Amino acid sequence: MEVSGNQFDLIVVGGGIMGSCTAYEAAKRGHRVLLLEQFDFLHHLGSSHGESRTIRCTYPEHYYTQMVLESFRLWGEAESEVGYQVLTETTQFDMGPAGNKSLQSVVANSTGASSNLEAQVLNHSQVADKFSGTFGLPEDWIGVATERGGIIKPTKALAMFQALAIRRGAVLKDRMEVVDINKDRHAKILVTTSTKHQFWANKCVVTAGAWTQKLVKTVSGLHLPIQPLHTVICYWKIKQGFEKHLSPEGGFPTFASYGSPYIYGTPSMEFPGLIKIAMHGGHRCDPDQRDWNAGKSTNSGSLIEPVRQWIREVMPDRVEADGPVLTQACMYSMTPDEDFVIDFLGGEFGKDVVVAGGFSGHGFKMGPVIGRILAQMAINGSEGTGVEMEWFRVRRFDDDTHGNVKEYEDQMIALRTHALYFTEEMA
Ligand SMILES: Cc1cc2nc3c(=O)[nH]c(=O)nc-3n(C[C@H](O)[C@H](O)[C@H](O)COP(=O)(O)OP(=O)(O)OC[C@H]3O[C@@H](n4cnc5c(N)ncnc54)[C@H](O)[C@@H]3O)c2cc1C
Repeated sequence: MEVSGNQFDLIVVGGGIMGSCTAYEAAKRGHRVLLLEQFDFLHHLGSSHGESRTIRCTYPEHYYTQMVLESFRLWGEAESEVGYQVLTETTQFDMGPAGNKSLQSVVANSTGASSNLEAQVLNHSQVADKFSGTFGLPEDWIGVATERGGIIKPTKALAMFQALAIRRGAVLKDRMEVVDINKDRHAKILVTTSTKHQFWANKCVVTAGAWTQKLVKTVSGLHLPIQPLHTVICYWKIKQGFEKHLSPEGGFPTFASYGSPYIYGTPSMEFPGLIKIAMHGGHRCDPDQRDWNAGKSTNSGSLIEPVRQWIREVMPDRVEADGPVLTQACMYSMTPDEDFVIDFLGGEFGKDVVVAGGFSGHGFKMGPVIGRILAQMAINGSEGTGVEMEWFRVRRFDDDTHGNVKEYEDQMIALRTHALYFTEEMA
């Protein structure tokens, strides 16, 4: 396919995992695609960089499980096409107080016949047996184990989808900050960059991560309730002699601990002798003016201290809890209900511009399925198929600013009252 000049079928704004997957999916379908990224490709200033992301099918919300199952298949197809691996499969282990409503919903979704997850629900002593004493759960906690978990290498995965998109004929340009999206007098989408470059297309997809709210407001005046948060990933030293036990080869799982705070971790892989254990939460931020120290202090806004306490309580014999050896900064784009925003922009753009954001700290694993949906929506002008799209509409915030109503709001309330939405004044 010949691609030249500044005319395209589809322009994708934002080269994170969502934009890269969208560019690949649209190019794969034979369309002329341009992907524009404001920074250098594979930069560390957004949400899709780093060494590991969890993939798990266990969710309190039933609609994510099927999306992750499709993604597992699409990750595999992309790996086959490129010829190398970005995903390492592991057991996924969820744990928490037996009365935690989110965890109860995880149990209901992952033990039902329709889920095909064949989850094992374990009491605290069964957990100790299964993982050779690695997790010391309180007596009133339970664990849920499934074989559909894994670790994805995010930067490598991003590079994979960008390479595959190029191979399929897409044009990728970085250091191109999009400052405006308009309709010209021929009803074509006109995209303008801060470098004064102009590109035209029939359709446009905005996947701008933590910048989504700013860009959409500038372009259409629409206010999306997507709050950028600065967060911190921590790597902790594994106690001597247990390094192999806490690796994927040693059968160590990806894990999530429900409650306040919500803690998650991945097996030791990227830094030998270290394990990633972090908390879900962060500090409100302006993506263009980050405080790189946010969350690292020892005061009430700390994103480290709650993890330290959790390690002391649950993994005291395996992990040194003195403090993290390494930290890495990252950004979440939070919606009030932690569900994604995937919708047509509407207004003068109608169905010609699709916006996808608010992935709320759990979107990476679903990048391939979201790319498939976005390409389909933009090209066909119809809603994505195979996914319950009603949960992701912008209009859900019209009647209730909290968005989707959930029976198990304990998790989100816990987040809101813990570190999530901490402002510097509160810290
Ligand atoms: C610490 C941390 C841990 C996480 N753990 C997990 C996990 O275990 N499992 C999981 O599934 N998910 C996880 N996530 C969430 C996941 O990483 C994100 O949901 C996902 O990366 C979001 O991708 P994105 O493409 O929407 O955003 P981004 O990766 O931020 O991409 C958006 C891109 O758009 C570009 N852009 C913005 N504005 C413009 C503009 N005007 N012009 C041109 N380009 C622009 C940005 O520079 C950026 O590159 C985690 C996130 C963090 C921060």
